[in-house]
Amino acid sequence: ALPDTSSGWRLYQPSIEDALQKRIRLHEALRGALDNHEFFLVYQPKIELRSGRIIGAEALLRWVHPQLGFVSPVDFIPMAEASGDILRIGDWVIERAIRQLEEWLAARQVANDFHLAVNVSVQQLTRPDFARNLLQRLLRSRLPAGALEVEVTESGLMQNVDLARTQLQLLSRHSVSVAIDDFGTGHSSLAYLKTLPVSVLKIDRAFVSNMDTEPQDRRLAETVIDMARNFGCITVAEGVEKPEQAEMLMDMGCELAQGYWYSPPLKVEQFVEFCAAREQI
Ligand code: C2E
Ligand code: CA
Ligand code: CA
Ligand code: CA
Repeated sequence: ALPDTSSGWRLYQPSIEDALQKRIRLHEALRGALDNHEFFLVYQPKIELRSGRIIGAEALLRWVHPQLGFVSPVDFIPMAEASGDILRIGDWVIERAIRQLEEWLAARQVANDFHLAVNVSVQQLTRPDFARNLLQRLLRSRLPAGALEVEVTESGLMQNVDLARTQLQLLSRHSVSVAIDDFGTGHSSLAYLKTLPVSVLKIDRAFVSNMDTEPQDRRLAETVIDMARNFGCITVAEGVEKPEQAEMLMDMGCELAQGYWYSPPLKVEQFVEFCAAREQI
């Protein structure tokens, strides 16, 4: 028999090998996830701070693999972006979101002015036909203008401002509103920001989490809200987990909030129940 060299290697490098194996398995699994119907969307309500009304939701992607179980988007989205799979996955997300919103509106389970936001990665956004395809799809739907919103991360936008701007301009001219996600984390130049047709800034959770205890985070959140006002944008605070945070944000003039304090992201049935319980219709 051959000497067991692999176990000797294992003795010294177990974590590296395991991590590598896991990534390879994950990669392979991800490739089949769409065709095997392993993805679904969950919906996190967006709340108007002043009224407590549900004004919309953010669609968030979930993946449960039969063997690997739940895999976080924080792990698989970057993989899908690197492999290019994000384009097909992203198309699926948009299709699913549009159909879901059509269903909710037809069944009067959400208000007529309800907005649904989808996350769009920079690879999708910088495809030359992204905006045109999305608008064509929306035209075929029965959705009111402005019912769909796209969220683009600040860091993604800054990777290719010129291409992104062209796409976003087309979208916003046809009343698809554009939100900058994770705002405050991406070192974007204000000069660039001014040239983008953005209507919503989302304050990253990092600033919201500690704003009730850390004066510096509180000032940062306040700066973002003031900046948004100067740009004619509204602000959404993400990751609101405590009523004190909601209170502070409202005092600072922030319009909308999302977070566990109101609701975690919900599966369709639970989301509908949540809306009904809040008497939205
Ligand atoms: P994101 O767009 O910044 O989404 C917000 C994340 O914060 C979500 O994590 C949400 O579940 C979580 N969250 C919401 N409220 C709270 C709270 O009160 N406390 C805490 N601790 N967390 C909260 P999730 O669903 O794991 O998504 C992570 C990221 O994955 C998203 O960050 C987004 O960048 C990406 N992602 C998710 N779905 C999609 C998608 O369909 N397409 C693309 N391109 N990216 C997606
Ligand atoms: Ca988002
Ligand atoms: Ca975000
Ligand atoms: Ca975030």
